[in-house]
Amino acid sequence: MVNVGILGATGMVGQRFIQLLDKHPDFDITALAASERSAGKRYEDATTWYLDEAMPESVKDIEVCETKPEAMSNDVDILFSSLPTDFAAKIEPAFAQDYIVASNASAMRMVPDVPLVIPEVNPEFLGLIETQQKNRGWDGFIVTNPNCSTIALTLTLKPIYDAYNINKVYVSTMQAISGAGYNGVPSMAIVDNIIPYIGNEEEKMESETLQLLGSFEDGVVKDADFKLSASCHRVGVVDGHTEAVFVELDKDEDIDDIKQTMANFKGRPQELGLYSAPKNPVIVKEEEDRPQPRLDRSADGGMAVTVGRVRKDAAMDNSFKYVLVGHNTVRGAAGASVLNAELINKEIL
Ligand code: NAP
Repeated sequence: MVNVGILGATGMVGQRFIQLLDKHPDFDITALAASERSAGKRYEDATTWYLDEAMPESVKDIEVCETKPEAMSNDVDILFSSLPTDFAAKIEPAFAQDYIVASNASAMRMVPDVPLVIPEVNPEFLGLIETQQKNRGWDGFIVTNPNCSTIALTLTLKPIYDAYNINKVYVSTMQAISGAGYNGVPSMAIVDNIIPYIGNEEEKMESETLQLLGSFEDGVVKDADFKLSASCHRVGVVDGHTEAVFVELDKDEDIDDIKQTMANFKGRPQELGLYSAPKNPVIVKEEEDRPQPRLDRSADGGMAVTVGRVRKDAAMDNSFKYVLVGHNTVRGAAGASVLNAELINKEIL
């Protein structure tokens, strides 16, 4: 077994980590860390548990430690990070001197020697680890996963990008409240309302997607070459991001072929049979009123993205549009890091 710890263990994403790692066949939780407010307490006493499923018995008595390398037990190989970005920027590099850090935070995502990875999309970017360790003299390393809305979008674009030539993508998101963390959006702001701004979200979607679909040659990442425009909005849904996507190709393609291309998509996690890999990363629905967050966010344990309403777009030449739903704290956060760690465990450790 590989011993793992969770940084930010008491938060929304931290709790998902605990849910996904409890009973994991390869990973065993041996350390939980959070802020000074929680440090020194039993995990059960430090945490306001928000998931439907009960808190696993195995973590209740673990003493939460401070988030600093000297407070961490030596008995840990991989640290999953769900820390606030500003703090992650300072502390993740300190941990990476000795530990493998699989991070959800955006702090290190766009750093040139830090791989930003979705295992089905760009597993080869893990080749940057060697460069990172050489550049920095670390025994450990940092691997990041993208932003929650980017992951869902990129999983659906990858089969399209490989099969056809994309000219342009527009995406409009309807993002769940849990994406902002437990204390993120006050109920008085979101009930009976839509908030048409999520700080830095559009920039992250635009830059991360192009990087993930880009190439990795001679140790260098080169962005994919098409235009992407995102508009991001917070809506009163607890979990599950919905996105309306509009794609312009360089020539007209058959809609049924496009649907088949998405539905048949499989990547390295499926080939390797990784424990958290969904059978199909993209599920294509034919019902005219799907996908919906309440009905589709938990597809394949929350690790698959559901697509529906794939149809021609009359406003642009050679274009089509669709709607997707992805679970923001599972596939979009904790599940993404766990799948990255499973890939690392299988191919690198
Ligand atoms: P959250 O619910 O607010 O949880 C934050 C966690 O970080 C808590 O465990 C908190 O501990 C800990 N923390 C806060 N300040 C700290 C400090 N100074 N030192 C040490 N620990 C500290 O946030 P979240 O939604 O889980 O998000 C966590 C990270 O994941 C963020 O970077 C976010 O952008 C990213 N992310 C979130 C989602 C999502 O859907 N929610 C998706 C993708 C990425 P205490 O309980 O002790 O305060």
